[in-house]
Amino acid sequence: MNNDLKGKVNRLGIMGGTFDPIHYGHLVAAEMARAEFKLDKVLFIPTGTPPHKNRKGISDAELRFEMVKRAIQDNPSFDISRLEIEREGPSYTVETLRVLRRMWPEHELYFITGSDALLEIFSWREAEEIFRLIEFIGAARPGFDASDFFLKVQQEHPETKGKIHYLEVPALAISSTDIRARVRRGEPIRYLLPEAVRLYLAQHKLYTDT
Ligand code: ATP
Ligand code: MG
Repeated sequence: MNNDLKGKVNRLGIMGGTFDPIHYGHLVAAEMARAEFKLDKVLFIPTGTPPHKNRKGISDAELRFEMVKRAIQDNPSFDISRLEIEREGPSYTVETLRVLRRMWPEHELYFITGSDALLEIFSWREAEEIFRLIEFIGAARPGFDASDFFLKVQQEHPETKGKIHYLEVPALAISSTDIRARVRRGEPIRYLLPEAVRLYLAQHKLYTDT
């Protein structure tokens, strides 16, 4: 794993996801979080075997890794990690965060999620521990209104106080699920994701029969 992030890094954003495939929704959320929270880097961490996803036939981790690599190549503030894809078995976020904390004990760490993922945080393993390790940036995502959640969660879970930050981003109603369905149906996906990713997934015949 690359713990030698290029350049000086004090404030680090973590963008975890299946990225099957990565699309502009992910990239916009990461870039707006970087600017708004003055992050020195955003580290994309593709999942290995995601514990929450039961969908059969998640694409091979190496293919998902390659797509992320291509998507972020022109942004010097974005980096990618093999931490989760190299770990055996399901990758729980809390395990990843423990490793990242050990690697960067002095850094300010922010986990960037969409509002859909934010609404599920308390179903994650060791949610309380997660809030001891990292703060959250929740990016608005069409279809998932998290505004009530922000009020309620701070009352019901005092350990989260001040540790969940709301981020308004230009709303992109793009999801990997929709992109996969479009490919399967032979519909266009151009402009929903970087062209290099579109060419890569076509070349590897991804999603044609999933
Ligand atoms: P799938 O449809 O397979 O679940 P997805 O589009 O939700 O894919 P994930 O890899 O599950 O993508 O998401 C990784 C992270 O990116 C999650 O925190 C998710 O909430 C966030 N995210 C995904 N799409 C968007 C979007 N359009 N706007 C904001 N955040 C997003
Ligand atoms: Mg998702």
